[in-house]
Amino acid sequence: MNSHSQEHIVMLPFLAHGHLIPFLALAKQLQQRTGYTITIASTKLNIQYLRSSISADSDSKILFAELPFCSSAHDLPPNTENTENLSLDRIVKFFYASQSLEYPLLRLLNDIIDQEGRTPLCIISDIFYGWAVDVAKTVGTVNVSFSTCGAYGVLAYVSFCMNLPHRSTDSDEFLVPGFPESVRFHRSQLHPYLRAADGTDVWSKFMHSQFSRCLESSGWLCNSVEEIEPLGLDLLMKYIRLPVWAIGPLLPPEALKSSSSSHAGVSRQRAGKKPGLPLEKFLDWLDLQSPNSVLYISFGSQNTIGASQMMQLAIGLEESGKSFIWVVRPPVGFYLNSEFRAEWLPEGFEERTKQSRRGLIVRNWAPQLDILSHKSTGAFLSHCGWNSVLESLSQGVPIVGWPMAAEQSFNSKMLIEEMGVSVELTRGIQSVIEAKEVKRVIESAMDEHGKGEDMRKKAAEVKELIKLAVREEGEEKGSSLKAVDDFVRTVLYKRS
Ligand code: UDP
Repeated sequence: MNSHSQEHIVMLPFLAHGHLIPFLALAKQLQQRTGYTITIASTKLNIQYLRSSISADSDSKILFAELPFCSSAHDLPPNTENTENLSLDRIVKFFYASQSLEYPLLRLLNDIIDQEGRTPLCIISDIFYGWAVDVAKTVGTVNVSFSTCGAYGVLAYVSFCMNLPHRSTDSDEFLVPGFPESVRFHRSQLHPYLRAADGTDVWSKFMHSQFSRCLESSGWLCNSVEEIEPLGLDLLMKYIRLPVWAIGPLLPPEALKSSSSSHAGVSRQRAGKKPGLPLEKFLDWLDLQSPNSVLYISFGSQNTIGASQMMQLAIGLEESGKSFIWVVRPPVGFYLNSEFRAEWLPEGFEERTKQSRRGLIVRNWAPQLDILSHKSTGAFLSHCGWNSVLESLSQGVPIVGWPMAAEQSFNSKMLIEEMGVSVELTRGIQSVIEAKEVKRVIESAMDEHGKGEDMRKKAAEVKELIKLAVREEGEEKGSSLKAVDDFVRTVLYKRS
């Protein structure tokens, strides 16, 4: 702890599970390294979840501030009703409404200033909150943007939204400013929101206004690792022309120490999202399987797949004969908590799976990190959300990609082209997939030889690089810890 322990940092995560987790992990790291007070500001429900995730004594200088969220505070631009996609409409409204946190944040900062007689050293805000740059200026502090996703993915997403490069060509293939000519993007890699973006639509307008403000931050923190994303980080730094600190992977310490030989007790619980089975059931079942033989299937904290996709996935999975754990959710169009219907899966699928002990089907939520860190898990069929990617690679588990939204298809592209740790099965919730393709891709990814072996070797190499990046002891600190230190020195200590 240093002599400026009365200093204060305010953090502002985006209101989604995949953003809260790395923000909290970063808060813990910064608190431990500096001794400063950290306030995480978010809405009531998210604060409840965050509070339940920290231990009272060790994190006593991490405080929480509830900000009111007003879902109707920011009117949408007039062309919202033109959207064909109702779920897009809901998501867009949510993003626009997140701007209602601006004035409550300003009030919070002024309260801290009144109480402590000094201005917080810095705001660390999510890249979706470009407006935080102005709030920071108003109270006389600085804003640092935090990308909870990887460098390649965030660069592709930001540059795409800023430049809309697909508009300048009729061809399927296009270049994205910031990437070299050798890296080509394809329309099919774009989420439907992005494919339709033309600069007048609500989605690209929102993103453009937030990202352009973030480019005026004092720097970007990035939940990535220098050694695993050298191209993405180099390109991101050149594009945004700001300091970038690669401080990832922000995972529980146990996940980074695990030897991958057995269960490491590493999963993070989410309030209201309890695993569909007790942890021991997963571990007992995994203990009975042979090494690298199990395919884990999950699409993150909020995604699901289409009804016919679900059916084909189940048939292909069964035909592949591979063992699996599948976090099954009601298909697109149904609420997450809808009663599960037998007709969503092939007739007798669950019974056959149970009887043959070939698979574990679990409703809605599973202890993901525990599963990935078990030696029996051989591959992860994932939507390529960045937390899932880091969790998988930190355990040396290769990925079968099924990207769905946000920057996930850019992550998938990077995992295939730059890292060689993944194959892609399909994209999105509307694609037509056939059971025989599911079977072929799963067999290839889990093959002891050929592609499967190659991906496993590369994933094991990435796992070692991640371990080195977070190495604390010994002569030289790992790159991610050096980056945190550099951030602390150049932004926080300079201002304290
Ligand atoms: N997760 C989990 N169990 C599940 C589904 C998800 O523990 O059944 C966790 C997962 O470990 C990860 C997070 O939820 O930490 C998902 O984050 P990610 O960035 O992969 O995807 P998002 O949910 O943001 O789309």
